[in-house]
Amino acid sequence: MLNISRKTGLRGLYTLCIFLGTFIPQTLQTLNRIEMKDRRSFYNRLNKFPAPDGWVKFAKKIDPRIGPIWLVDDPSLPRSLIVGEEIFVNIRREYWENYRLLGARSYEEAVVCRFLHEIGHIVAGSTGTQGLEIDSKGISQEYERRVRETPLEAVLKDPHEEPAYNYVRNIKDNQPQEFSCLFESFKVWHTKRGRDA
Ligand SMILES: [Zn+2]
Repeated sequence: MLNISRKTGLRGLYTLCIFLGTFIPQTLQTLNRIEMKDRRSFYNRLNKFPAPDGWVKFAKKIDPRIGPIWLVDDPSLPRSLIVGEEIFVNIRREYWENYRLLGARSYEEAVVCRFLHEIGHIVAGSTGTQGLEIDSKGISQEYERRVRETPLEAVLKDPHEEPAYNYVRNIKDNQPQEFSCLFESFKVWHTKRGRDA
């Protein structure tokens, strides 16, 4: 009697395992798909513009797979991001002065630094912004709070961020012509946008 019930119990457990073994991965896959769709809908809604040609050419020289590159003017994206091969560069004026630490003397130079910073992450082998949590409503408040609470000096020394900042400095100091091309193409784009608006 005891033997039979143990057998039945084991069979039940076995069936349950098979069921969960199929059900859990499927559910995770579905949740993953929903999450990706959510994130995509956030990126799609952003107020964004294709980057100037000078920037696209620069990025393609680094890696032809990079793109599209977007200039984003949207309060819901207060930072720049890499999503796979896609780059979103925040062009809002808030916090541009942080880039004075890297030698930026104007808002326009700071935007070029933001772009180069993301390229620097790609050159360093990054495929996405670390620790970033995004859903259909945008960047998670928890992530934003963490970033804002981190002192600038600590961000500069963060082992994930350091190569990207060094890349910006390197281009600025050692390839001033490249930097000024990026700067000029952004200035032209920005002036034209001012006229169109
Ligand atoms: Zn970064």
